[in-house]
Amino acid sequence: MAMILDGKETAAALKEELALRLAKLREKHYEPKLAIILAGSSKPSAMYASFMQKVAKGYGIDAEIFRASDDVTEEELGSLVTDLSADQEITGILMMMPLPKGISAEKMIALMNPDKDVDGLTETNAGRLTAGKAGLFACTPRAVMAILDHYKIPIDGKKAVIIGRSNVIGKPVSLMLLSKNATVTICHSHTKDIASITSEADILVAAVGHANYVTADMVKEGATVIDVGINRVDGKTVGDVDYEAVAAKAGAITPVPGGVGSVTTTMVIENIIAAGEKLAK
Ligand code: NAP
Repeated sequence: MAMILDGKETAAALKEELALRLAKLREKHYEPKLAIILAGSSKPSAMYASFMQKVAKGYGIDAEIFRASDDVTEEELGSLVTDLSADQEITGILMMMPLPKGISAEKMIALMNPDKDVDGLTETNAGRLTAGKAGLFACTPRAVMAILDHYKIPIDGKKAVIIGRSNVIGKPVSLMLLSKNATVTICHSHTKDIASITSEADILVAAVGHANYVTADMVKEGATVIDVGINRVDGKTVGDVDYEAVAAKAGAITPVPGGVGSVTTTMVIENIIAAGEKLAK
């Protein structure tokens, strides 16, 4: 039976490290502040905004929600993003998605100061990741890396296969694994005979968005399986991996819930602190 890679345990260990980094920032008299942009009346966005405000406050980080109505114009929302990007008191900006109809997320993201982009959405940060430079990178891929790091899963020289190539998960996690010297293969909806590729993987990351997509026959004996998927099936949250069958064959596996998702918000906080460390210099 596979070792369980516990996201909550990983997050708890990181919390201690983050508290130390926050204390160092405060020694420099820098108080980080998060700006959360909540445009429109989407209930899930409102819930996520309040949740993130609570999480930030749990770390003693001030977090303010900046609201805009459903009929906000691109010009109005754009000037809010521009103002927050320039505001010396703001360390990080989180923009709730999706934005109201008629507002281009791409245009809004382009207005964001990349050094305050704590969700890692800007092209500047995507470019920095590709170029192997420091930056603020997407939080879910970083949660994957944090779990591998916490459980000391060897990456250097290992074969890593990622199913999914989205800009928010598949691509960044592939680059992060590459930067740790894995030999990386990315699979997607046009990949032929995926099982023959995934069954070679020492580390298999599933970011597909289909429940039970990864079955035991697709996994190498003893592999590390990271399930990024979040799917609702019969009122339950499940990942992309057929958990019971794969756990019987893998060497290590993340559960859903309680795996990657449990570390993602911690990575947002880490990005706020990292942004503060750069701004405080
Ligand atoms: P996405 O943008 O829909 O991307 C899915 C990827 O899977 C695409 O690259 C797609 O290929 C590929 N794909 C789809 N069907 C496939 C198939 N039959 N065979 C092989 N590849 C296939 O999704 P995402 O935003 O990356 O999210 C992926 C999953 O992670 C979702 O379940 C999402 O809910 C979850 N998620 C989790 C967290 C967390 O904190 N744990 C955060 C965000 C998202 P093409 O590019 O060819 O279309």
